[in-house]
Amino acid sequence: MTCCFFGARKKSGDLVHHDTSDTGGESIANTKNFSFNELRLATNSFNQSNKIGRGGFGTVYKGTLKKGKEIAVKTLAAESRQGLREFLTEIETISNVKHPNLVEIIGCCADGNNRILVYEYLENRSLDRALFGSGTRIKLEWGKRATICLGTAQGIAYLHEELVPHIVHRDIKASNILLDKNYTPKIGDFGLAKLFPDNITHISTKIAGTTGYLAPEYVLGGQLTMKADVYSFGVLILEIVSGRSSSSSIWQSDKKSLLEWAWRLYQEEKLLELVDEELDDFPEKEVVRYIKVALFCTQANSNRRPMMSQVIEMLSRNIQLNEKELTPPGFFEDYGGESTRSKLKLSECSTSQQSFPPLTITQVTPR
Ligand code: ATP
Repeated sequence: MTCCFFGARKKSGDLVHHDTSDTGGESIANTKNFSFNELRLATNSFNQSNKIGRGGFGTVYKGTLKKGKEIAVKTLAAESRQGLREFLTEIETISNVKHPNLVEIIGCCADGNNRILVYEYLENRSLDRALFGSGTRIKLEWGKRATICLGTAQGIAYLHEELVPHIVHRDIKASNILLDKNYTPKIGDFGLAKLFPDNITHISTKIAGTTGYLAPEYVLGGQLTMKADVYSFGVLILEIVSGRSSSSSIWQSDKKSLLEWAWRLYQEEKLLELVDEELDDFPEKEVVRYIKVALFCTQANSNRRPMMSQVIEMLSRNIQLNEKELTPPGFFEDYGGESTRSKLKLSECSTSQQSFPPLTITQVTPR
């Protein structure tokens, strides 16, 4: 199956045609072109008090439009300052990708050197804040957590299996899952990788921050397929169930990862120990099924990982999982203390409980 990580349209329809606009003769239909001044007014001159986050792509501000609509304004980092036409083409593509579990892009601004994206504002902000932020944690009972897992799976399945050409997100993680006022999850940052030159990809510049989510074959061999997203989604399920971040320093201190811990508990038939202590009332069988689905998603051999539509089936139906087919997870470790690919090694959890020997050590050349 062909697959790519940019430029998408719905299976059933062509890209919409261009209208005229005021963006230097270039335009995008479907999406509003904001002037810099409009966004400056909306964000109180990009005031620090409006700043709600900073990610690898740039800084995010909360803004309010004249009619009162709240927006999230993402000012893209300097590396993204590509040509106007290329920028608008990408934005048009991204803005045509619509699904209840994807953050909606409502406009953009390409004024002078500025490259800014305008998104719908999600009241409950990002899942990482809700799950493990200090002072920002939200009490999420199991029902909400299950809805977040399932909705996120549906958003990814849409990107992978319904769009032509397909989109591989590349950066599925808790900070990229936004929650609306009803805690419906919406995936952000899809398609943005194309706005940055290949040699300054988000992931290669911030490898340490996202190591816990990255499929080993992607980090070490640059193999980017849908199965890399499936792997990240598996790690995300473990975080949602456990309330622990895969990139937390506790994993580095005793050299274990959330995934290794989950696998060990699976082997010891103690999976309920993984469950967040904040959860006092939950359906045990269902929660255990979710953890097992996470383990299916994170298997070392990417071919063994399910497609996202299968993941949805596994999560949503009370079916018996065929555990004879489950093989150990794979992960990579940064054992050099530096975030360079050459210091990473690929490991696979052993089937014995004691050791996790490396399978291969690979020197990776930059893409
Ligand atoms: P990275 O760029 O490495 O993926 P990130 O996901 O934290 O990191 P951003 O996507 O730039 O970075 O977002 C930064 C923060 O801004 C988010 O964690 C979230 O709290 C907030 N944020 C982003 N988009 C929105 C939005 N549409 N509505 C509400 N808050 C948002």
